[in-house]
Amino acid sequence: MMRSLRTKLSSTIALVVIITIALTSFLANYFINEKFNDYVTRKQEQRAKEIVSMLSTQHIKSTNTWNMDYIYSIGMYSLYDGYIIKVYDEKNRIIWDAQAHDMTLCAQIMDDISDRMEARYPQIKGEFKSDTYHITINHEIYGAVSISYFGPFFLSENDFLFLGTLNTIFIGIGIFSLVFSVIVGIMLAKRLSNPILKTVNATKQISEGNYNVRIEEKTTTEEVDMLIVSINHLASSLENQENLRKQLTEDVAHELRTPIAVLQAHLEALVDGVWKPSTSRLQSCYDEVTRIGKLVSDLENLARVDRDNLTLNRTKINLMDVIKMAINTFETEIRNKSLNVRLSGQCGDILVDQDRISQVVMNLLSNAIKYTLDDTNIDIILTESKNAVKFSIKDYGVGIPENELPFIFERFYRADKSRNSMTGGSGIGLAIVKSIVEAHGGNVKVESQVDIGSRFEVTLPKK
Ligand code: ADP
Repeated sequence: MMRSLRTKLSSTIALVVIITIALTSFLANYFINEKFNDYVTRKQEQRAKEIVSMLSTQHIKSTNTWNMDYIYSIGMYSLYDGYIIKVYDEKNRIIWDAQAHDMTLCAQIMDDISDRMEARYPQIKGEFKSDTYHITINHEIYGAVSISYFGPFFLSENDFLFLGTLNTIFIGIGIFSLVFSVIVGIMLAKRLSNPILKTVNATKQISEGNYNVRIEEKTTTEEVDMLIVSINHLASSLENQENLRKQLTEDVAHELRTPIAVLQAHLEALVDGVWKPSTSRLQSCYDEVTRIGKLVSDLENLARVDRDNLTLNRTKINLMDVIKMAINTFETEIRNKSLNVRLSGQCGDILVDQDRISQVVMNLLSNAIKYTLDDTNIDIILTESKNAVKFSIKDYGVGIPENELPFIFERFYRADKSRNSMTGGSGIGLAIVKSIVEAHGGNVKVESQVDIGSRFEVTLPKK
């Protein structure tokens, strides 16, 4: 059954409190009763001895008589406490008898005690019983006293009052804790569930496509905080994805529009007979088709890299060889721009996918060649650390404006668009570089200054 966090938490806390209190008061009652009854029984014996010793002081030796006034007070005093006594002299003649003295009072006291005890402790099946003790002075017997009281033990009115108060205290504490715990439970659940409800609300909005929603709620619960942070993170990465997707569609459309428009205009002119088909005109149509073809193959290339990066075919290679091969590939372009490629440093073998890493080097080198000025240098430096191999490619060309640096690794991103229509790139090269390097567990960084040059640095872990 589904229940809200608030109900669940407060009812669980209340249940725990009820059980704890019930158990505590049951155990406390049980042990107090046990000890209390023990104590009362001991007190009774003590009391009987006291009565005997008090009586013994009332014998006047010289006249062999008893101090009757005092015996009367002792008897009455004991009677009110629930002890009914009968005093005998040494010849076993009764000298004072509580029952004979006040029959009604005795009966009333006995009934009171029996009723009270019967009501509270029916299980002990108590009754009045009497014990007889000798009254002795210096080990000589001068008489006897028979003390009868409710056994095995009885509680006085004060004792009952004490136990009653104790139970009232327990019930009071119980009710107070119960109310308190329910309030605390509700408050706690509220503090927990409020941010969760807000988070649920935000995720609902995110799932409806409102990727700009963020949860501002601050909580003191670590797990809830973690949840909020990851949902905000999720929202922002979805937002980025969405922007990128829009950008991609826009860019693809934009990239296709120009060659298609040119092609359309040319073909229209040819169809309408405005233009005579000539080699140069057909060549220009062919160039546009080639541009479209290149764009489509770039797109395919990117999709393939994304897909294939899942399975890297790692072999042991030396980066120096890969870089030298790439330099050879671009020999013509390097010569055409009168560039001087300076290769330095060295490193050991690493375990990578050779084709992919070679593509990384080629993309970076081709950019460096493309964007550097004629008659300049391109510096390639290889270094090795304990865990990684690094190479950097530095050119002395146009550079990249600082505000564009964060985006150049995104698909179809091209800094300074007008400038780039000349160089003919489609803004996919660096996206591929990043994707491949990250698939190898490495990273790529860029430093650049406009009109000074750019430096790309790739780090690959040795594994
Ligand atoms: P493109 O095919 O346009 O070169 P890339 O993804 O390789 O696409 O690069 C993205 C953009 O980054 C380029 O359009 C260019 O503006 C900028 N860029 C890349 N490398 C360099 C470089 N070495 N010097 C200056 N700008 C560069």
